[in-house]
Amino acid sequence: MIYQNSKPLLEVRGLRATVNGIEILKGIDLTVRSGEVHAIMGTNGSGKSTFAKVLAGHAAYVVTGGTVAFEGKNLFELAPEERARAGVFLAFQYPIEIPGVANNQFLRLTYNTVQAQRGKDELDPLEFDDFVREKMKLLEMSPDFLDRSVNAGFSGGEKKRNEILQMALLEPLLAILDETDSGLDIDALRIVANGVNQLATKDNAIILVTHYQRLLNYIVPDYVHVMESGRIIKTGGKQLALDLETHGYDWVSIEQRAAAGV
Ligand code: ADP
Ligand code: MG
Repeated sequence: MIYQNSKPLLEVRGLRATVNGIEILKGIDLTVRSGEVHAIMGTNGSGKSTFAKVLAGHAAYVVTGGTVAFEGKNLFELAPEERARAGVFLAFQYPIEIPGVANNQFLRLTYNTVQAQRGKDELDPLEFDDFVREKMKLLEMSPDFLDRSVNAGFSGGEKKRNEILQMALLEPLLAILDETDSGLDIDALRIVANGVNQLATKDNAIILVTHYQRLLNYIVPDYVHVMESGRIIKTGGKQLALDLETHGYDWVSIEQRAAAGV
């Protein structure tokens, strides 16, 4: 939701980044204020995941230009784990499996790390068990997933739910959800979207990276941005996602692309 006078949480200016020496992000500008939901759409390979991973601090991506401020502070001075502790959360497009690490231990450790950072109480295993089960109900997840290794053998949809479970536990200030809708059937999509909607407050913000309009029926964005060739070539309200669904990405005109430098 757009709130009057809400403060900028994330300010991206002229962001450029490379991976393996190839420039992928070519000057991104984006301001996200607390309370807002932004959708980033765009064809495959347009740089959406790269942008998400640069914000989270993935080591393979090298920032070559521009600035990013998170709550007014230079994001790039923070190591990835410091960003997480500061309240930046990325739900991966392809969540990794961590065989041998029990999901409940992993979740409790992450949760307690963030709690400690916020000067709040940590939970012992028994307390955490009650707490996490409540959150799992929100996502209609079976408690069986607590005893299994992190994401190991989880289906695509189960991995995505486990990512949103982490979000529910960590209560990030800025949640970036990268293609969380992919691999979800319609029921799972509704459950996950419900979970995300319940986590949205006036103090946090969500960036939804998605290829499809479908998710945006459930989580209604305040702004929709279209990315192409590492730039945002068009920004609009929720109607823009519907227009893209109807007309396809080619519908963004040559003039608009030229104006954005693509
Ligand atoms: P999207 O998420 O929009 O589909 P990505 O950010 O994943 O796009 O990819 C953008 C471009 O960067 C693609 O052309 C992709 O092949 C390239 N790319 C991403 N990661 C790497 C990598 N590790 N090495 C080389 N190229 C990469
Ligand atoms: Mg992607």
